[in-house]
Amino acid sequence: MIKDTKEFITESKIINILQRLSRIDSTQPEGNEKEVVKEILDIFKDYDIDYKMIDHGKNRASLVITLEGKDNDNSIAFLGHIDTVPVEDYEKWIYPPFDGVIEQGYMYGRGTADMKGGVTSMILTLLYLLENNITPSNKIKFCFTADEEANGIGILAVKENKILDDTKAIFVAEPSNEKIGLAEKGALWLEVNVEGLSAHGSRPELGVNAIEYLFEYIEKFKCRVKNDETNELLGKTTISINKFNGGIGTNVIPTEAKANIDIRTIPGHSHDEIIDMAKTIAQDMMDDKSNLNIIIDVENNRPAIETKRNQRFIKDIEQTFKQLKYDFDYKGIYFYTDASQVIPDIKVPFVILGPGDDKMAHQRDEKIKLSSISNITEIYINYILGI
Ligand SMILES: [Zn+2]
Repeated sequence: MIKDTKEFITESKIINILQRLSRIDSTQPEGNEKEVVKEILDIFKDYDIDYKMIDHGKNRASLVITLEGKDNDNSIAFLGHIDTVPVEDYEKWIYPPFDGVIEQGYMYGRGTADMKGGVTSMILTLLYLLENNITPSNKIKFCFTADEEANGIGILAVKENKILDDTKAIFVAEPSNEKIGLAEKGALWLEVNVEGLSAHGSRPELGVNAIEYLFEYIEKFKCRVKNDETNELLGKTTISINKFNGGIGTNVIPTEAKANIDIRTIPGHSHDEIIDMAKTIAQDMMDDKSNLNIIIDVENNRPAIETKRNQRFIKDIEQTFKQLKYDFDYKGIYFYTDASQVIPDIKVPFVILGPGDDKMAHQRDEKIKLSSISNITEIYINYILGI
């Protein structure tokens, strides 16, 4: 049974919803996601919906709307974050970031691709189900989360409130170029702090040069992190030194140096192992040299996650693509999403499948193709109708 979804998903509906969402400034670090939550609730004001607003304080909130199914033992969850990254170069934007300007089939604005476009698809999916009085086979939970671009307070609160405990599969509506995202790289951020001993620049043998030991540390670390394995969708684990500080003057042996290492892992690469190794290297160097102190801090730790292609959930999604006569392809996602905060605990199949180009995320003059929102909405609705 397929009701005509194409007729329902009009461009004017997409524009209306996406403009309402993207004209609200929900940039980090303030977020102000409660304004977005209020707007979403207003979109559904004519319907009797079952919702839970999770208040995080300081005008920040997340929202979960639940649609009962025929079988309410399990749910399918959709995740979409409602915060965006900041606008740091406002004067350089050609299209004002909060106006929702439309040009040649695209809407421009901060957060249009990442990911108010995906949130629009979630809203339209629910509107379709409500308007047509459809009771899906399973309970469906639409989770609109705050703070994904920073600490994930929204998704963590969703988890704490046990909202995902009955979930059997998760859609992450992040931009995936309409491809089926099966895997996501992990992120492990380490800060290495080295303390040495000061001396005059003319007598380096009397000091312990923090910068030089930091170089040595990084060389050892890079050699020992294994990256010989390749993931079909994500390539290899990568290491990048993205911040480096130290020293006070050309003629002073530096006592302090600090580097921040960004490690992006592929599924199966244990973060605990990397952290243990990082600490062991530090300890070995300290054992060999007095007055040398190396401290390793973990700044961010999100494991890589992956869904197997042969899962029923993925097969059903493929079936939906085929039914709609859309080509499909698989994709690996290089950045982390809210999924990394929940999948390691609840261990259910997930997919990253949403409208827009992920390369547009966090860019100046961010934009999204309106037809992409339409296609993904069609896929969401028909998936739900098909299960
Ligand atoms: Zn995002």
